[in-house]
Amino acid sequence: MLTGLEQRGCNLKPRPEVEQGLSRLCGLRMTMDQWEVRANNCLQASPKPCLEEVERMIREGENISTGLPALEKLKDAVRKAKEWWSRAENLQKPENYPYLDTLEALVGKGRPLPIRLDPLAQLETQVAAARAWRERTARVFLKKNSHCNLLEVLSPRHDIGCEKKRKKRTEDGNYRHPIFLGLSAIQLSDPQEIVNAFKQAEQAELQTMKEVRVKNQNTLKKDGLMLECELCMDQFPPGSIPLPRLPSGKSKPTSLRDVKFLCPNCLRSRRPRLETILSLLVSLQKLTVRLPEGEALQCLTERAMAWQDRSRTVLARPDIAAALKKLSIQSKDEGNERI
Ligand SMILES: [Zn+2]
Repeated sequence: MLTGLEQRGCNLKPRPEVEQGLSRLCGLRMTMDQWEVRANNCLQASPKPCLEEVERMIREGENISTGLPALEKLKDAVRKAKEWWSRAENLQKPENYPYLDTLEALVGKGRPLPIRLDPLAQLETQVAAARAWRERTARVFLKKNSHCNLLEVLSPRHDIGCEKKRKKRTEDGNYRHPIFLGLSAIQLSDPQEIVNAFKQAEQAELQTMKEVRVKNQNTLKKDGLMLECELCMDQFPPGSIPLPRLPSGKSKPTSLRDVKFLCPNCLRSRRPRLETILSLLVSLQKLTVRLPEGEALQCLTERAMAWQDRSRTVLARPDIAAALKKLSIQSKDEGNERI
């Protein structure tokens, strides 16, 4: 529009008023062009400009003309940056203890914005620390070439007897464990609700395992030698699965019945020592981000420790202690007979 006006001015008969108007138009055009260049440079600058700088640039532009093309781009960037900033500040409040994937999404949104976002570096550090914890925990628990992911391994089994079913993936392509899928956003914000959900899943796991054991016992396959899983009591022909390694120093088992065997469905992970797990839990406490894997590990550890306590109490009972003593004498005798 401005250029058109200038051209029409040039076609007029030269008069001082026209000359004056033309030179003012030319000056205005140059100011606008200069601002446009600066605004575009500002959006591509490295390091990125801070919010105040961009807002100053917008005010300057608006004083020249409201029709400047880069004005909208700058305003859009400022609006997005402010939205991002308020979400980030909200998540940083102590009462909002976000899950890693929420924070990852926020970091992903903040990175491409052309304005410097002060909390971004800190959020990136938090995300990196949580990811490192998860990787360390995965190394402790996951077997090589494991078909399970860490969260599955740490959570009660929900697929006993139907292990071959495909894992459901959510719309965003991420795998979510059924325990967390069943919880609403409000429930997810309450740690007690999560503990309750795990307790329910533990009960369901125990119940299903009992049913599967009964079913497997009733369908004993009688053809040839079979290995029986100690846990699910399913039977496997010895050639179909890798045989368990025997502890060194022990003699070869005399029959397949003596082999303490867990089938691949039941032996889903490594079984780290409690001290290793407690050290993982200590570093988990230092994270400012929530991890479903962390919550699963806390519940699992509590479950394991409660089991340990219960079995200690039972083993300490005089009648049980006496029976155990008798058993150990018996097995010694059997051993001597074999020699
Ligand atoms: Zn099994």
